[in-house]
Amino acid sequence: MKETASAKKSDSFKDSRTSATSSSSVQRSLSFSDSAEDAQPPIAVPQPQRDHDMNSWNCSQHQKLWMRTEMQDLGLWPGSRPVRNLGNAISLWRHPPQPELIDTVAELPSPNFFQLHPFFIWKPENEIMSRLKNKYNLPCLHGCPHPQVVSAGVGRPRVIVGTSGQYYILSSRLCCKSCRKNWFADSPRWLEKLPRRFTNLLPAFLTYKKAICKSVMDELRRTGKSPTDMANQVNELMHLKYERAHLAYLQAIESVWDAEAGVHGQKTIGQFIRKSNTPYPFSSYEDPNGWCGISVSGFYLTDCLLEEYKRQEPALSRLLQGTFGQVFRSDHTRKVARKVTLASGIMSSYAIMNEHWLIVSWVMVQSESERSLEPMYQGMAKRYNDAGVEKAGFHWVDR
Ligand SMILES: [Zn+2]
Repeated sequence: MKETASAKKSDSFKDSRTSATSSSSVQRSLSFSDSAEDAQPPIAVPQPQRDHDMNSWNCSQHQKLWMRTEMQDLGLWPGSRPVRNLGNAISLWRHPPQPELIDTVAELPSPNFFQLHPFFIWKPENEIMSRLKNKYNLPCLHGCPHPQVVSAGVGRPRVIVGTSGQYYILSSRLCCKSCRKNWFADSPRWLEKLPRRFTNLLPAFLTYKKAICKSVMDELRRTGKSPTDMANQVNELMHLKYERAHLAYLQAIESVWDAEAGVHGQKTIGQFIRKSNTPYPFSSYEDPNGWCGISVSGFYLTDCLLEEYKRQEPALSRLLQGTFGQVFRSDHTRKVARKVTLASGIMSSYAIMNEHWLIVSWVMVQSESERSLEPMYQGMAKRYNDAGVEKAGFHWVDR
């Protein structure tokens, strides 16, 4: 299934250099053929024309065209034919075609194919989400009592920084037929109203102003790095990805030239057919018509961390204030108890901690036998009973 899809895609790539006339950047960009669309009878599209206008999208021209082609192939673009969901399996992730495998026939490889970023489709109103919805009626952003949420156009992509490079979340534009108001499906205020099983699917945390991939937040938590260190790491990685793509592009050209020079025996004839033998420059990391690379700052990540803390605060404070826990670890220590002298001589301290390293109970005992701990365990059991909390299931001990 994948093979045919990618073969079809390379067919639909059409070099616009010959047809495009206006700016040089447009001339450099490849376009995706509209022939499939043209072949169909015109379909009345209720959405206003501006939604079809991808000019407002904040990404490179070839990224726009590739995303549109993908959406058309999936039947998710307004006016495109519905597609049978083969095998009832679909991924909301779209990954660019492998640029090395695209046959540009006589032309030299285009940098555009090497400059595409993956994207994630976010269309909660669409049929593709029906299993997730299970007849759940999507809420209205404005809290209508009888919301009727439908698609109101193509929507827009939003760039996201992840630990394996940048990608886009392409969110649809929604409309509530009851109150006739529009919003984007990635609106944080709307996302808050959705059941968790929807937002769990999103690869990023989307807040009012910031958006960050969950992978970056996970890494921040896991490593305990400062936001500045983390920003440096992520930026370095994104530049590495760019450099690799650039190298792959140059090697693809070298490979074509080698074949034409007869390095592998027989010579290929591309050089005689093509108009120019000069490769297109790969352009800089930030070039909006090229790689369109972004960077992230430590301040941005700090804001994301704060937002994440706000979101989790109720759960966190419950965890931190609770003197309960499901996993215990405990040990004796004589060090702490050394200063306490009793007639009997030995004294040790015994502490029980929960899975959050919070002390659940801490007592002084005169003997290290299990029996001496009996009253403490009884006390703890009473505490759990009184609070109606399920007793701890695991207990690590020092013997
Ligand atoms: Zn409404």
